[in-house]
Amino acid sequence: MRAIVYRGPNDLRLENVPVPRIGSGELLVKVAVCGVCPTDIKKIQYGTVPPPRVFGHETAGVIVRRGAQTRGFQVGERVALHHHVPCLKCHDCAHRAFAQCAQYKRTGITAGFEPAGGGYAEYVRVMPWVLPGVVKIPQRNSFFEGAMLEPVNTVLKAIKRLALLNGDTVLVAGQGPIGLMFTRLLTLQGMKVVATDRLVSRLELSRDFGAKWTWEVNSENRSPKSEALRSKFRVQSSRFNVSSLAQLTDLLTHGRGLDAAIIAVPSDEVVREAQQLVRCGGQVLLFSHTRRGEQACLDLATICTDEKDLIGSYSADFTLQAEVARLVFSQKLDVRQLITHEFPLDQTAAAIGLAAQPTENSLKVVVTQRTE
Ligand SMILES: [Zn+2]
Ligand SMILES: [Zn+2]
Repeated sequence: MRAIVYRGPNDLRLENVPVPRIGSGELLVKVAVCGVCPTDIKKIQYGTVPPPRVFGHETAGVIVRRGAQTRGFQVGERVALHHHVPCLKCHDCAHRAFAQCAQYKRTGITAGFEPAGGGYAEYVRVMPWVLPGVVKIPQRNSFFEGAMLEPVNTVLKAIKRLALLNGDTVLVAGQGPIGLMFTRLLTLQGMKVVATDRLVSRLELSRDFGAKWTWEVNSENRSPKSEALRSKFRVQSSRFNVSSLAQLTDLLTHGRGLDAAIIAVPSDEVVREAQQLVRCGGQVLLFSHTRRGEQACLDLATICTDEKDLIGSYSADFTLQAEVARLVFSQKLDVRQLITHEFPLDQTAAAIGLAAQPTENSLKVVVTQRTE
Protein backbone atom coordinates (compact mmCIF):
# COMPACT_ATOMS: atom_id res chain seq x y z
CA MET A 1 0.00 0.00 0.00
CA ARG A 2 1.03 3.62 -0.32
CA ALA A 3 2.13 5.51 2.79
CA ILE A 4 3.77 8.83 3.56
CA VAL A 5 6.85 7.84 5.55
CA TYR A 6 8.64 10.34 7.78
CA ARG A 7 12.37 9.80 7.19
CA GLY A 8 13.76 12.77 9.17
CA PRO A 9 13.06 16.47 9.79
CA ASN A 10 10.97 17.83 6.90
CA ASP A 11 11.55 14.63 4.96
CA LEU A 12 8.29 12.92 4.01
CA ARG A 13 8.34 10.28 1.27
CA LEU A 14 5.65 8.45 -0.59
CA GLU A 15 6.64 4.81 -0.25
CA ASN A 16 5.23 1.36 -0.83
CA VAL A 17 4.91 -0.52 2.46
CA PRO A 18 3.13 -3.76 3.41
CA VAL A 19 -0.53 -3.55 4.41
CA PRO A 20 -0.40 -4.03 8.22
CA ARG A 21 -1.21 -7.53 9.48
CA ILE A 22 -3.72 -7.56 12.30
CA GLY A 23 -3.96 -9.76 15.37
CA SER A 24 -7.08 -11.55 16.58
CA GLY A 25 -8.18 -8.64 18.77
CA GLU A 26 -7.56 -5.93 16.18
CA LEU A 27 -9.15 -4.09 13.26
CA LEU A 28 -7.85 -3.07 9.85
CA VAL A 29 -9.31 0.25 8.67
CA LYS A 30 -9.11 1.73 5.18
CA VAL A 31 -8.47 5.44 5.65
CA ALA A 32 -10.89 7.91 4.07
CA VAL A 33 -9.98 11.20 5.76
CA CYS A 34 -7.10 12.21 8.02
CA GLY A 35 -6.80 15.71 9.46
CA VAL A 36 -3.49 17.55 9.56
CA CYS A 37 -2.75 18.35 13.20
CA PRO A 38 -0.28 20.96 14.52
CA THR A 39 1.28 18.47 16.95
CA ASP A 40 2.32 16.24 14.01
CA ILE A 41 3.57 19.26 12.07
CA LYS A 42 5.92 20.11 14.94
CA LYS A 43 7.24 16.56 15.13
CA ILE A 44 7.85 16.55 11.38
CA GLN A 45 9.46 19.99 11.19
CA TYR A 46 11.62 19.81 14.28
CA GLY A 47 12.35 16.09 14.08
CA THR A 48 11.49 15.58 17.74
CA VAL A 49 10.96 11.81 17.33
CA PRO A 50 13.19 9.30 15.54
CA PRO A 51 12.22 8.12 12.02
CA PRO A 52 10.80 6.12 10.31
CA ARG A 53 7.13 6.67 11.17
CA VAL A 54 3.80 7.23 9.48
CA PHE A 55 1.99 10.16 11.09
CA GLY A 56 -1.65 11.22 10.95
CA HIS A 57 -3.99 10.59 13.89
CA GLU A 58 -7.27 12.37 13.11
CA THR A 59 -8.49 9.42 11.14
CA ALA A 60 -11.83 8.23 9.80
CA GLY A 61 -12.40 5.29 7.47
CA VAL A 62 -14.03 1.93 6.88
CA ILE A 63 -13.41 -1.35 8.70
CA VAL A 64 -12.15 -3.80 6.08
CA ARG A 65 -11.00 -6.66 8.31
CA ARG A 66 -11.61 -7.69 11.90
CA GLY A 67 -9.75 -10.14 14.07
CA ALA A 68 -11.65 -13.23 15.26
CA GLN A 69 -11.70 -12.00 18.85
CA THR A 70 -13.02 -8.47 18.24
CA ARG A 71 -16.55 -7.86 19.44
CA GLY A 72 -19.02 -5.18 18.42
CA PHE A 73 -17.54 -4.28 15.05
CA GLN A 74 -18.46 -5.31 11.52
CA VAL A 75 -16.58 -5.13 8.24
CA GLY A 76 -17.98 -2.21 6.23
CA GLU A 77 -18.72 0.03 9.21
CA ARG A 78 -17.63 3.66 8.93
CA VAL A 79 -15.63 4.67 11.97
CA ALA A 80 -13.62 7.48 13.57
CA LEU A 81 -10.49 6.50 15.48
CA HIS A 82 -8.67 7.67 18.60
CA HIS A 83 -5.00 6.69 18.68
CA HIS A 84 -4.74 7.09 22.47
CA VAL A 85 -7.02 5.52 25.06
CA PRO A 86 -6.33 5.57 28.82
CA CYS A 87 -6.53 2.48 31.07
CA LEU A 88 -8.95 4.18 33.53
CA LYS A 89 -7.34 2.15 36.35
CA CYS A 90 -3.93 3.65 37.14
CA HIS A 91 -2.90 6.43 39.55
CA ASP A 92 -2.96 9.08 36.79
CA CYS A 93 -6.39 7.98 35.55
CA ALA A 94 -7.74 8.07 39.12
CA HIS A 95 -6.75 11.74 39.11
CA ARG A 96 -8.36 12.18 35.69
CA ALA A 97 -4.95 13.05 34.26
CA PHE A 98 -5.70 10.69 31.38
CA ALA A 99 -3.08 12.17 29.05
CA GLN A 100 -0.39 11.20 31.59
CA CYS A 101 -1.49 7.53 31.80
CA ALA A 102 1.18 5.08 30.61
CA GLN A 103 -1.29 3.19 28.42
CA TYR A 104 -2.59 6.46 26.96
CA LYS A 105 0.91 7.38 25.86
CA ARG A 106 1.25 4.16 23.87
CA THR A 107 -0.02 4.97 20.39
CA GLY A 108 -2.45 2.23 19.40
CA ILE A 109 -2.78 2.86 15.66
CA THR A 110 -0.12 2.22 13.04
CA ALA A 111 0.52 1.86 9.34
CA GLY A 112 3.84 0.17 10.08
CA PHE A 113 7.10 1.19 11.82
CA GLU A 114 6.95 2.73 15.31
CA PRO A 115 3.23 3.45 15.87
CA ALA A 116 2.48 7.15 15.20
CA GLY A 117 -1.14 7.24 14.05
CA GLY A 118 -0.64 6.00 10.50
CA GLY A 119 -3.43 8.07 8.99
CA TYR A 120 -1.25 9.20 6.09
CA ALA A 121 -1.44 5.72 4.60
CA GLU A 122 -4.06 3.63 2.85
CA TYR A 123 -4.68 1.27 5.77
CA VAL A 124 -4.16 1.37 9.52
CA ARG A 125 -4.03 -1.35 12.13
CA VAL A 126 -6.09 -0.60 15.24
CA MET A 127 -4.71 -2.32 18.32
CA PRO A 128 -6.79 -3.83 21.15
CA TRP A 129 -6.39 -1.12 23.80
CA VAL A 130 -7.65 1.64 21.51
CA LEU A 131 -10.77 -0.25 20.38
CA PRO A 132 -12.85 1.56 23.05
CA GLY A 133 -11.88 4.73 21.17
CA VAL A 134 -13.45 3.58 17.90
CA VAL A 135 -16.62 5.60 17.26
CA LYS A 136 -19.15 4.59 14.61
CA ILE A 137 -20.09 7.40 12.23
CA PRO A 138 -23.87 7.76 11.77
CA GLN A 139 -25.27 7.27 8.26
CA ARG A 140 -26.11 10.96 7.83
CA ASN A 141 -22.62 12.14 8.79
CA SER A 142 -19.43 12.26 6.76
CA PHE A 143 -15.90 10.95 7.22
CA PHE A 144 -14.85 14.61 7.54
CA GLU A 145 -16.99 14.97 10.64
CA GLY A 146 -15.61 11.70 12.02
CA ALA A 147 -12.02 12.86 11.53
CA MET A 148 -12.74 15.97 13.62
CA LEU A 149 -13.83 14.13 16.78
CA GLU A 150 -10.30 13.95 18.19
CA PRO A 151 -9.47 17.69 17.89
CA VAL A 152 -12.93 18.66 19.17
CA ASN A 153 -12.38 16.39 22.17
CA THR A 154 -9.12 18.17 23.04
CA VAL A 155 -10.98 21.49 23.01
CA LEU A 156 -13.90 20.30 25.14
CA LYS A 157 -11.46 18.77 27.61
CA ALA A 158 -9.68 22.13 27.97
CA ILE A 159 -12.96 23.98 28.54
CA LYS A 160 -13.87 21.53 31.31
CA ARG A 161 -10.67 22.57 33.10
CA LEU A 162 -12.03 26.09 33.49
CA ALA A 163 -14.22 27.15 36.44
CA LEU A 164 -16.70 29.14 34.41
CA LEU A 165 -20.20 30.32 35.27
CA ASN A 166 -22.95 31.01 32.78
CA GLY A 167 -22.49 34.46 31.22
CA ASP A 168 -18.75 34.71 31.93
CA THR A 169 -16.51 36.60 29.53
CA VAL A 170 -13.71 34.55 27.96
CA LEU A 171 -10.93 35.58 25.61
CA VAL A 172 -10.00 33.10 22.88
CA ALA A 173 -6.67 34.22 21.42
CA GLY A 174 -6.26 32.80 17.92
CA GLN A 175 -9.14 31.85 15.65
CA GLY A 176 -7.65 29.03 13.67
CA PRO A 177 -9.61 25.75 13.53
CA ILE A 178 -8.95 25.08 17.22
CA GLY A 179 -9.74 28.65 18.33
CA LEU A 180 -12.98 28.57 16.37
CA MET A 181 -13.96 25.31 18.09
CA PHE A 182 -13.32 26.99 21.45
CA THR A 183 -15.44 29.96 20.42
CA ARG A 184 -18.34 27.77 19.38
CA LEU A 185 -18.27 25.38 22.36
CA LEU A 186 -17.94 28.22 24.88
CA THR A 187 -20.84 30.05 23.24
CA LEU A 188 -22.97 26.89 23.39
CA GLN A 189 -22.25 26.79 27.13
CA GLY A 190 -23.49 30.33 27.62
CA MET A 191 -20.17 32.20 27.71
CA LYS A 192 -19.49 35.54 26.06
CA VAL A 193 -16.44 35.20 23.83
CA VAL A 194 -13.94 37.86 22.86
CA ALA A 195 -12.10 36.47 19.83
CA THR A 196 -8.74 37.76 18.62
CA ASP A 197 -6.68 37.02 15.53
CA ARG A 198 -4.45 38.73 13.00
CA LEU A 199 -6.64 37.69 10.08
CA VAL A 200 -9.89 39.58 9.58
CA SER A 201 -11.29 36.65 7.58
CA ARG A 202 -10.96 34.46 10.67
CA LEU A 203 -12.56 37.08 12.89
CA GLU A 204 -15.53 37.25 10.56
CA LEU A 205 -15.90 33.49 10.77
CA SER A 206 -15.58 33.65 14.56
CA ARG A 207 -18.72 35.80 14.58
CA ASP A 208 -20.53 32.95 12.79
CA PHE A 209 -19.21 30.61 15.46
CA GLY A 210 -20.70 32.81 18.18
CA ALA A 211 -18.02 35.32 19.20
CA LYS A 212 -19.71 38.34 20.76
CA TRP A 213 -16.73 40.63 20.17
CA THR A 214 -13.72 40.42 17.91
CA TRP A 215 -10.37 42.13 18.01
CA GLU A 216 -7.86 42.30 15.22
CA VAL A 217 -4.30 41.91 16.43
CA ASN A 218 -2.10 44.05 14.29
CA SER A 219 1.26 42.36 13.91
CA GLU A 220 3.02 45.45 12.46
CA ASN A 221 2.54 47.29 15.73
CA ARG A 222 4.17 44.53 17.70
CA SER A 223 7.17 45.46 19.80
CA PRO A 224 8.83 43.23 22.38
CA LYS A 225 7.38 44.67 25.55
CA SER A 226 4.06 45.99 26.78
CA GLU A 227 2.98 47.19 23.38
CA ALA A 228 2.87 43.63 22.15
CA LEU A 229 -0.85 43.56 21.65
CA ARG A 230 -1.44 47.14 20.57
CA SER A 231 -4.13 46.44 18.10
CA LYS A 232 -6.37 48.08 15.66
CA PHE A 233 -9.99 47.44 16.34
CA ARG A 234 -11.46 47.05 12.91
CA VAL A 235 -14.18 44.44 13.01
CA GLN A 236 -17.10 45.74 15.10
CA SER A 237 -15.10 48.88 15.84
CA SER A 238 -17.84 51.40 15.29
CA ARG A 239 -19.56 50.73 18.59
CA PHE A 240 -16.56 51.27 20.79
CA ASN A 241 -13.96 53.96 20.84
CA VAL A 242 -11.10 51.93 22.23
CA SER A 243 -7.52 51.63 21.14
CA SER A 244 -6.34 48.53 22.97
CA LEU A 245 -7.57 45.08 23.89
CA ALA A 246 -7.14 46.08 27.56
CA GLN A 247 -9.54 48.99 27.09
CA LEU A 248 -12.01 46.77 25.33
CA THR A 249 -12.01 44.10 28.05
CA ASP A 250 -12.34 46.85 30.67
CA LEU A 251 -15.39 48.15 28.90
CA LEU A 252 -16.96 44.72 28.40
CA THR A 253 -16.44 43.56 31.98
CA HIS A 254 -17.07 46.91 33.75
CA GLY A 255 -13.45 47.06 34.78
CA ARG A 256 -13.44 43.64 36.42
CA GLY A 257 -11.34 41.79 33.85
CA LEU A 258 -11.86 38.59 31.92
CA ASP A 259 -13.00 35.45 33.69
CA ALA A 260 -10.66 33.33 31.59
CA ALA A 261 -8.37 33.48 28.59
CA ILE A 262 -7.55 30.59 26.26
CA ILE A 263 -4.27 30.90 24.41
CA ALA A 264 -4.59 29.01 21.11
CA VAL A 265 -1.48 30.63 19.60
CA PRO A 266 2.11 29.77 20.58
CA SER A 267 2.99 33.31 21.69
CA ASP A 268 4.50 34.15 25.08
CA GLU A 269 3.58 37.82 24.69
CA VAL A 270 -0.07 36.87 24.41
CA VAL A 271 0.22 34.83 27.63
CA ARG A 272 1.68 37.78 29.53
CA GLU A 273 -0.98 40.09 28.15
CA ALA A 274 -3.75 37.61 29.05
CA GLN A 275 -2.36 37.28 32.57
CA GLN A 276 -2.98 41.03 32.91
CA LEU A 277 -6.42 40.95 31.29
CA VAL A 278 -8.02 38.24 33.46
CA ARG A 279 -9.58 39.28 36.75
CA CYS A 280 -8.03 38.29 40.08
CA GLY A 281 -9.06 34.68 40.64
CA GLY A 282 -9.42 34.15 36.87
CA GLN A 283 -7.68 31.58 34.68
CA VAL A 284 -5.32 31.55 31.73
CA LEU A 285 -5.19 28.28 29.82
CA LEU A 286 -2.32 27.38 27.48
CA PHE A 287 -3.30 25.22 24.54
CA SER A 288 -0.53 25.77 21.98
CA HIS A 289 2.67 25.88 24.01
CA THR A 290 3.83 22.39 23.12
CA ARG A 291 7.46 23.12 22.30
CA ARG A 292 9.76 22.05 25.10
CA GLY A 293 12.79 23.84 26.47
CA GLU A 294 11.71 27.43 26.08
CA GLN A 295 11.64 29.73 29.10
CA ALA A 296 9.33 32.66 29.67
CA CYS A 297 9.25 35.58 32.09
CA LEU A 298 6.15 36.12 34.18
CA ASP A 299 5.22 38.17 37.25
CA LEU A 300 4.60 35.26 39.65
CA ALA A 301 2.69 37.50 42.07
CA THR A 302 -0.13 37.50 39.53
CA ILE A 303 -0.46 33.77 40.32
CA CYS A 304 0.17 33.94 44.08
CA THR A 305 -1.30 37.25 45.25
CA ASP A 306 -3.86 37.77 42.48
CA GLU A 307 -4.80 34.06 42.43
CA LYS A 308 -4.79 33.94 38.68
CA ASP A 309 -4.42 30.30 37.67
CA LEU A 310 -2.07 29.57 34.80
CA ILE A 311 -3.01 26.12 33.54
CA GLY A 312 -2.61 23.97 30.46
CA SER A 313 -4.48 21.25 28.65
CA TYR A 314 -3.21 18.64 26.23
CA SER A 315 -4.73 15.86 24.20
CA ALA A 316 -8.15 14.26 24.59
CA ASP A 317 -10.33 12.98 27.45
CA PHE A 318 -11.71 9.53 26.73
CA THR A 319 -14.67 10.03 29.09
CA LEU A 320 -15.93 12.93 26.92
CA GLN A 321 -16.11 10.82 23.76
CA ALA A 322 -19.91 10.42 23.73
CA GLU A 323 -20.50 14.12 24.42
CA VAL A 324 -18.09 15.08 21.65
CA ALA A 325 -19.77 12.71 19.18
CA ARG A 326 -23.16 14.26 20.00
CA LEU A 327 -21.87 17.81 19.51
CA VAL A 328 -20.24 17.03 16.17
CA PHE A 329 -22.77 14.59 14.68
CA SER A 330 -25.74 16.80 15.66
CA GLN A 331 -23.84 19.64 13.95
CA LYS A 332 -24.35 21.91 16.96
CA LEU A 333 -20.67 22.36 16.37
CA ASP A 334 -20.61 22.28 12.59
CA VAL A 335 -17.05 21.22 11.84
CA ARG A 336 -17.69 21.11 8.09
CA GLN A 337 -17.23 24.88 7.96
CA LEU A 338 -13.74 24.47 9.37
CA ILE A 339 -12.41 22.24 6.59
CA THR A 340 -11.15 24.43 3.77
CA HIS A 341 -8.61 22.28 1.93
CA GLU A 342 -8.40 18.64 0.85
CA PHE A 343 -5.27 17.01 -0.53
CA PRO A 344 -4.78 13.50 -1.97
CA LEU A 345 -2.42 11.17 -0.11
CA ASP A 346 0.54 11.73 -2.44
CA GLN A 347 0.37 15.47 -1.68
CA THR A 348 0.47 15.08 2.11
CA ALA A 349 3.67 17.17 2.32
CA ALA A 350 1.85 20.07 0.61
CA ALA A 351 -1.10 19.64 3.00
CA ILE A 352 1.26 19.88 5.97
CA GLY A 353 3.00 22.89 4.40
CA LEU A 354 -0.29 24.75 4.08
CA ALA A 355 -1.42 23.87 7.61
CA ALA A 356 1.94 25.09 8.94
CA GLN A 357 1.69 28.38 7.03
CA PRO A 358 -2.02 29.19 6.96
CA THR A 359 -3.31 31.73 4.49
CA GLU A 360 -6.18 34.22 4.72
CA ASN A 361 -8.62 31.56 3.54
CA SER A 362 -7.23 28.33 4.96
CA LEU A 363 -8.38 26.64 8.15
CA LYS A 364 -8.42 22.89 8.68
CA VAL A 365 -6.49 20.94 6.07
CA VAL A 366 -7.23 17.24 5.51
CA VAL A 367 -5.84 14.38 3.45
CA THR A 368 -8.52 12.38 1.67
CA GLN A 369 -8.60 9.00 -0.06
CA ARG A 370 -11.20 6.99 -1.94
CA THR A 371 -12.56 4.09 0.04
CA GLU A 372 -14.25 2.30 -2.91
ZN1 LIG B 1 -4.60 16.18 16.65
ZN1 LIG C 1 -4.33 4.96 33.25
